[in-house]
Amino acid sequence: MTAQIIDGKAFAATVREKVAGHVARLKEENNVTPGLAVVLVGEDPASQVYVRSKGKQTVEVGMNSYEHKLDADTSEEDLLAVVNKLNNDPDVHGILVQLPLPDHLNEDLIINSIDPAKDVDGFHISNVGLLGTGQKSMVPCTPLGCLMMLRDHHGSLSGMDAVVIGRSNIVGKPMAQLLLGDSCTVTIAHSRTKDLPEVVRRADIVVAAVGRPEMVLGDWIKEGATVIDVGINRIERDGKNKLVGDVDFASASERAGAITPVPGGVGPMTIACLLANTVTACCRANGLAEPEGLTA
Ligand code: NDP
Repeated sequence: MTAQIIDGKAFAATVREKVAGHVARLKEENNVTPGLAVVLVGEDPASQVYVRSKGKQTVEVGMNSYEHKLDADTSEEDLLAVVNKLNNDPDVHGILVQLPLPDHLNEDLIINSIDPAKDVDGFHISNVGLLGTGQKSMVPCTPLGCLMMLRDHHGSLSGMDAVVIGRSNIVGKPMAQLLLGDSCTVTIAHSRTKDLPEVVRRADIVVAAVGRPEMVLGDWIKEGATVIDVGINRIERDGKNKLVGDVDFASASERAGAITPVPGGVGPMTIACLLANTVTACCRANGLAEPEGLTA
């Protein structure tokens, strides 16, 4: 079998279009413009690139973008004061504190100081608890993007066997919760899992979020399974820098029914879902109907 490629770049463009349509309606019918505030502490080059990209895409869909760039030696007290100001600003519907933070800042403390209703990354402990108990929450962007692609490809996921490889708080665990919410039978695998290839062979859906280049091999994949590759790994091959996923794309695409490539799969969906979450947060804050198809 040669797998169908799930084109995350194209799918992310359709999500952004939906977001832009909803933003236009909010402005016209309700006189409200969704606003996303991004806080960057320090000068980590990768974080600077992400923040620029987020700001650009926020403006492109018609929302207001607020950037707060703080020095690397900003104190916890000063950062908490910035977050508090944003919590109380009615023009700000989404707040994202770019991670990782410099070592002297307590990430959990900062994330949990964000108003959960504005926590568009879905990392606040209240949102984690709401997701875990099947209640309305803000959902972490990368797993939300994976879920949207799976729903788009399969329609209903009910009864499917899903294996999530990785148990991080930002990808693996929320991904598993979302799949459970859609009535999959979910296994979470991690570094201590025994006979991982055999566990993966049971899966109709494989989500790989490990951070190890091309670890998941084609002969681990059940014939016809759907493979979602979250991994982003930089490697050097034939003297060139290359981005690869956690799945060995060449061999896995011979067995899978559908697969996301890296790059161009899950990656572009993450920012698209951040924009979707901001519109959702804005609608909830104003007691308005939420956009269809943009939430879990
Ligand atoms: P973490 O490092 O936080 O978690 C990795 C997980 O993989 C851990 O649970 C770990 O298990 C597990 N693991 C490590 N080695 C093995 C192994 N040999 N066999 C089975 N499981 C293993 O990573 P993240 O969840 O933050 O990210 C995962 C990948 O996704 C990375 O490549 C990252 O760059 C990418 N990513 C991509 C995003 C996107 O927008 N596309 C967004 C976020 C992440 P244990 O808990 O036992 O240590």
